[in-house]
Amino acid sequence: MSADTRIVFTGRCYCSAITFSTTQAPETVAYCHCDSCRRATGGPVAAFAAFDEKAVTFTPDDGRQITVIPGSTRTFCAACGSSLTGRYDYLPGQVYISLGVIDQANDLAPKIHAHDSERLTWLHIEDDLERVSATARSKINDASK
Ligand SMILES: [Zn+2]
Ligand SMILES: [Zn+2]
Repeated sequence: MSADTRIVFTGRCYCSAITFSTTQAPETVAYCHCDSCRRATGGPVAAFAAFDEKAVTFTPDDGRQITVIPGSTRTFCAACGSSLTGRYDYLPGQVYISLGVIDQANDLAPKIHAHDSERLTWLHIEDDLERVSATARSKINDASK
């Protein structure tokens, strides 16, 4: 193990059957207001931190996979149902980890609202962050450069 593989962020699912750690800070942190993220996470809005896939280690693994929409694979803990990750064909090499399962979520404020056009009308998050109506893929990719 080289000297620069220090743990930066850690996390676990609700039941602690799955844990993970990262060796880098996330490339971006985003809210997602899309219908799919609401259903997958059960909350009125989802939030994710996007990491370089190579920087994250899951123990024993990142859970059960589910692909409902082609090109989008999510994982969840098969024991407790925690939403853990999302991987998207158009964002190769990145893994999106649900913000709520990261121990240091308080240090990871989102930078953007993705799919703001699908936001629940009664949900008002007051901030000055950029709001994009559709996918944030171009913004996210720009932000990670
Ligand atoms: Zn669990
Ligand atoms: Zn979404």
